[in-house]
Amino acid sequence: MRRPITAETRLIALLGDPVRHSLSPIFQNAAIQAAGLDAAYLALRCSPSSLPSLLHGIAAAGGAGNITVPYKEAAASAIARPTDAVVRTGACNTFWYEDDAIHGDNTDVVGFLTALELLLGGSPAGARVLLLGAGGSATAVVHALASARASEIVVTNRTRDRATALCERMAIEKVQLQERSIGSVGSESFDLVVNATSVGLRPEDPFPLDLDSGPTFSAAFDLVYAPGRTRWVNALRSRGVPAEDGLEMLLHQGAAAFERWFGIEAPLQAMRGSLPRR
Ligand code: NAP
Repeated sequence: MRRPITAETRLIALLGDPVRHSLSPIFQNAAIQAAGLDAAYLALRCSPSSLPSLLHGIAAAGGAGNITVPYKEAAASAIARPTDAVVRTGACNTFWYEDDAIHGDNTDVVGFLTALELLLGGSPAGARVLLLGAGGSATAVVHALASARASEIVVTNRTRDRATALCERMAIEKVQLQERSIGSVGSESFDLVVNATSVGLRPEDPFPLDLDSGPTFSAAFDLVYAPGRTRWVNALRSRGVPAEDGLEMLLHQGAAAFERWFGIEAPLQAMRGSLPRR
């Protein structure tokens, strides 16, 4: 049974715009309930101008939270104590109050890596990776893959300047990083392809990469998620290519955030069990 809201209930908030589609309130409240905590996770749609004051106000009241699109970069500037992942990616998706200061982390990094290792059955160390996309999540993917000692990342993006900027910004990472047009990649082979574009969010979207021509790859990770997995992931799996969509990443970034807020291990099974079965 759901624990009643009390005068001591701790507010954990998701700040973003839009937030209506988010699954975080479902699995975070399931986790709070399973752990027997007096807290509630609420999604708050907010404007760019209200983000810093909301973030500071919630933290000052003993609360904590997540940040989602389009405010992860703005949140990175609004916190006092960023983790290495925030500094490297310039984005913050998790905040909490500790030692008289607001701390922030980017748990998309560990969420991606944990889900990727589940897909691959081990580390991507040494892998040659094709990365589709150059937005905020692509930056987290580059940092995660570099930390795990992938050997090379080829970045392609619809807007090539953005991919060039990503490679310049992340050149500090210990990985060979290059921007290429998808046409120039031809039929090269990769150990892994990662879709970090928003292509696939809508059911009518094309596949992020054609199935019958272009590069070949041994495994695929789609950051987009959909009920019953994305169409691209299902098409690859039916051809025998190991592939997974972004739901596991979402769960693992959420589990890492839960651990920052409450200092205890996240009840992952309760979180997973609160979402529709696959
Ligand atoms: P973003 O910063 O807005 O970047 C969007 C990316 O998608 C850009 O590279 C953009 O290319 C590309 N794109 C958009 N429409 C396109 C189209 N029609 N054709 C080709 N490329 C297109 O977004 P983001 O935060 O990186 O998120 C990207 C995706 O990852 C979203 O679908 C998001 O839901 C998902 N995501 C999932 C998780 C998870 O936990 N599973 C976490 C974070 C993000 P241009 O630069 O050319 O516009």
